[in-house]
Amino acid sequence: MIASLLKKIPVQLKGEWIARKENCRFCGDNSALLIANVDYWDIKSTALVKCTTCNLAQLDPMLTNEQTSRGCRSYYMEESMRTSLSEKKRNLIRNFRRGVLFGHSLRKRKFKIEEVLEFGPGSGYFLEGIKFIYPEIRITVMDINPEVVNFNKSHHHYVTHLAPPENYIPELANRFDLIIARDFLEHVTDISAVIGNVKQYAKANGLFHFITPNGHEDLWKHYLAFRYLNKSSELLINHVNYFDGKGLLNYLSEQQFTPVDYYTYKFKTTLKGRGWMVKPKLMAPASQKKSAGSYFEKALKQAANNEFNKEDVLNEWYISKRYRNLTLLMSRFHHNSLVKVDPKYNVGHEIYGLFRAPGRE
Ligand SMILES: [Zn+2]
Repeated sequence: MIASLLKKIPVQLKGEWIARKENCRFCGDNSALLIANVDYWDIKSTALVKCTTCNLAQLDPMLTNEQTSRGCRSYYMEESMRTSLSEKKRNLIRNFRRGVLFGHSLRKRKFKIEEVLEFGPGSGYFLEGIKFIYPEIRITVMDINPEVVNFNKSHHHYVTHLAPPENYIPELANRFDLIIARDFLEHVTDISAVIGNVKQYAKANGLFHFITPNGHEDLWKHYLAFRYLNKSSELLINHVNYFDGKGLLNYLSEQQFTPVDYYTYKFKTTLKGRGWMVKPKLMAPASQKKSAGSYFEKALKQAANNEFNKEDVLNEWYISKRYRNLTLLMSRFHHNSLVKVDPKYNVGHEIYGLFRAPGRE
């Protein structure tokens, strides 16, 4: 099935050549294809363009940090309101199990991990999973959303920084064995500044782990809505960067990162047609310019969101320090990705990366 699909894709996106308003944040070039017009809540109307040199697709013009922060908090509240408490709790356990698996994959390869930094840690439970495998690690997290920072501080007692990831924080330089950015790079307004900071914050040959959506599949719904309905579509989650598997690898290599693991996984979306099939069901909804303000106000009112007690969350029969192998086995049972494909094909829902940061001269 996958093999026959690979012959049809990746479909080349077509579009009008335009001079962009802001240059590509990867390669600095100015010419691009217009892929779609999008509305980010009622905050901004902008275009989605794809660089014809490095294949990175981005918003043009990009959101400002203030707009990102506003949209992020609105989305955080909107999502929080439509997710039940039991579903939220299940998500925490899922992230914990993924952290266990990830930590185990590092331990197996004898990586020494002491200091860890995560950008955009969400609930912080992925880190708790790593801590289950590496109990001695010291954890620092950074986010632009005060709710996320407060939760990570009060719930996990991590060291926190409330700041945009583009800001350079000198005290973090040359400190980390492992830097994590899961479902994060697609959100940042200046990707090259963020990768530059990762480079600065990592120790020589430290690890950089990320997952990020396959940009080609993510663009697809906006591309269809624009090309076949000639409509602006709604961009509720601030995905502002859409990575091409090969382009992302090229960029990281230029920055002297070397791949340890690099692949795409989860192919349900591809099998359903994302990235190659033209059908109405796959199109992004037309824009309604949803009001960010109403959710934003609620986010401001909501204090540190401590609905959960950590002992309760991790009170599952298979989570136990005495029976680590059982915990690992169950984590693998729930989250193992059996099929892995080279990201250059741009198939699959998600790109997984584990890279080594450059050594120091
Ligand atoms: Zn470019």
